[in-house]
Amino acid sequence: MAGSSEEDRRKQVARFKKQSKHWLTREQELQQQQQAKARKAGRIKQRHDDWSADDDDPAVFEKIARPGRERPRPALSPAAIEGLPRGTVTAVHAGRVEIDFAPARLASAMVNDPEQRLAVGDEVAFEVTDGPPRIVARLPRRSVLARPDPGNEHRELVLAANVDLVVIVVAAADPPLRPGLIDRFLLALQRGGAAPLLCVNKVDLLDDAGRARLALMLQPYEELAVPVIRCSASAGLGIDELQARLRGRTCVFAGHSGVGKSSLLNAIDPAGGRATGAVRDFDGKGRHTTTAAMMRQLSDGTRVIDTPGIRALGLQELTRDELQAAFADLQAFAGGCRFADCSHAHEPDCAVRAAVAAGRLSAARHGSWLRLQAGDDG
Ligand code: GDP
Ligand code: ZN
Repeated sequence: MAGSSEEDRRKQVARFKKQSKHWLTREQELQQQQQAKARKAGRIKQRHDDWSADDDDPAVFEKIARPGRERPRPALSPAAIEGLPRGTVTAVHAGRVEIDFAPARLASAMVNDPEQRLAVGDEVAFEVTDGPPRIVARLPRRSVLARPDPGNEHRELVLAANVDLVVIVVAAADPPLRPGLIDRFLLALQRGGAAPLLCVNKVDLLDDAGRARLALMLQPYEELAVPVIRCSASAGLGIDELQARLRGRTCVFAGHSGVGKSSLLNAIDPAGGRATGAVRDFDGKGRHTTTAAMMRQLSDGTRVIDTPGIRALGLQELTRDELQAAFADLQAFAGGCRFADCSHAHEPDCAVRAAVAAGRLSAARHGSWLRLQAGDDG
């Protein structure tokens, strides 16, 4: 780690803070500003509700409604697209996308501007002339699920757009639950403005002792106000609650294979939904097989976007920089640690642990940091 001098260290912390601003919602940003003011005035009372508890809370909608980092590139002025039909991108191919538009119509549409980089979930305006519909504009995004572009550190690859809710699926057992993994998922979400829902499946496999252990393990997430649902796809437990949470929203199921994502999807929509990505090519070449993201429409209006890339969201390696940037709240105290490379786990004179003890930093946040530091995700 660079920056042994105090000056370098201060710069580093300032940089983390600046970086992490992009990942905050407007609400969180304001909250941070207020906290900074309060600290200055000596009135220190920090609340760590990074994740809102209640889905019906308008604050969550605010969070969801946060636009992505990338600015939309409107091909036309808002007035020019006013009368045009709108649709939702359900699958993306080279040079064309599939769109879904009311009422339940599917079409394969040409993309005029390849630079527009459409993603599944994007809302678009299109025009219909003789041939296939043509996409003329992408509407502003409410949220993005993205990962860093390996070829360009200043760019992100958008995996899906306008996702309201990411259902982080883990198993209570088989495979065993690893909290470090949940932390990673939450971290991945922090960037794009989609809200998390933690779904712990296979609770039917737990005995009383297992249930007690699970409760302890989930406590930090409840403290961070991440909504948690306990489910069993095979025993039909918690399915109604899951369904109610998802209803009418655009969702993504993320999680390791084997945790029960397909089983849960089947349980909430036994009819199998409408795989809206699977339409016939307009050119008559037959069904286009693709490994890209697809959107599925359930009978109650819920939309589920699925792709291997999204399922693995948050599973890629984190760099130390990314980790530190994601913990700007913790880094703000790190300058006071005795050691410049303090891990805030066991060192003497650790300002971060002191902040936790004094109630100025959430113990749950500190716990996430320790788990991610330790690579406790198998
Ligand atoms: P996916 O890879 O995440 O889509 O997981 P699957 O839905 O394919 O499920 C993986 C395995 O776990 C299958 O053998 C399922 O039958 C099993 N499974 C799924 N949900 C449950 C559950 O709630 N309880 C138990 N005991 N097994 C489950
Ligand atoms: Zn420390």
